[in-house]
Amino acid sequence: MDRRRFLRLLGSGTALASLPGDRKNGAFAGSGCPEAGSPLKNWAWMRGGIKSMDEWRRKLAEMRAAGIHAILIGGSADFYRTAVPVVRQEGLEIHAWIFTMMRGEHVKTHPDWYAVSRNGISTADKPPYVDYYRFLCPARDEVRRYLLEHVRELAGIEGLASVHLDYIRYPDVILPVALWPKYRLVQDKEYPDFDFCYCRICRDRFKRREGLDPLDLPDPPAHAAWLQYRYDTITEVVTMLADEVHSGKKQVTAAVFPTPAIARALVRQDWVTWKLDAVFPMVYHSFYKEDIPWIERATREGVDALRGRIPLYTGLYVPDLPPADLGRAVRGALAGGARGVCLFQGNTLTPAHWQEFSGAVKQAPPAGRM
Ligand SMILES: [Zn+2]
Repeated sequence: MDRRRFLRLLGSGTALASLPGDRKNGAFAGSGCPEAGSPLKNWAWMRGGIKSMDEWRRKLAEMRAAGIHAILIGGSADFYRTAVPVVRQEGLEIHAWIFTMMRGEHVKTHPDWYAVSRNGISTADKPPYVDYYRFLCPARDEVRRYLLEHVRELAGIEGLASVHLDYIRYPDVILPVALWPKYRLVQDKEYPDFDFCYCRICRDRFKRREGLDPLDLPDPPAHAAWLQYRYDTITEVVTMLADEVHSGKKQVTAAVFPTPAIARALVRQDWVTWKLDAVFPMVYHSFYKEDIPWIERATREGVDALRGRIPLYTGLYVPDLPPADLGRAVRGALAGGARGVCLFQGNTLTPAHWQEFSGAVKQAPPAGRM
């Protein structure tokens, strides 16, 4: 293998943006999701920054020994073709992690593809919160075709276990509460600058469906059918991408907001209904000013809502979990019915973290729920 080429691919392929407040996100499930009563499956979202092949292999081996079974990593098709054999040789699954609706590569070439706020401002011109928050409009045929081509290419790569959809949503109409001070905002209701999408296509589609222009509604956030239109539009994209990935004999999963209710309210994700093989709620307690016991409660809300249809893997935000708290968080997620956890992100855990993590997952009984 060409070492220099591998490292270049790794670096470029995994230059992943962070979310507002440095929160991250992202996730996946892959082939071999455990059935009820089977062993746990644990995951890690991974970023680039690997300095050498030996270091990369050592990291993967350390993670495998600690109880991680699969990694989710972003990159180009070339990157995956190179990385897949290395990761699999180390005994781990590798899953393609993609940023779905948030992508800035067409701001210049197709500015009309981008979502428009209730104030008429496109994320191509002035994105909300941070300069990389450039979300595509999920209703546009051209956007859907573009996303379809992307996942079709990934679904054709031998050895990749799944495609994991991250940022499969609208921009946050309301940010998680702990992030408000960072942006000097009080989002006690849905404000027009953060409410999407009111582009011509979305207005026309809603008009055909309900006979109304959403811009004419006296109180758009209170209009149930307009809210439902947004849930349905994202759900349609999930279904379309899932069908494509499944036709390539791979699984499809998604990183979503922490509970069904929070996901609908903040980013229009009605993820309980989605056509996925597994779901990864980002149960990042600190973003919501919650404590460690909330991780179990939030996990259970999702597990109960899914009624055993697909496995749920609880996403944990390691930067706000000192080692002892990581152990408590893992135990809470499993007690809430998760079939495993997914760590954000795998490159950053200290030896003390891995020790706690390993102890928590290895003491756990087989997952019995779901
Ligand atoms: Zn639109």
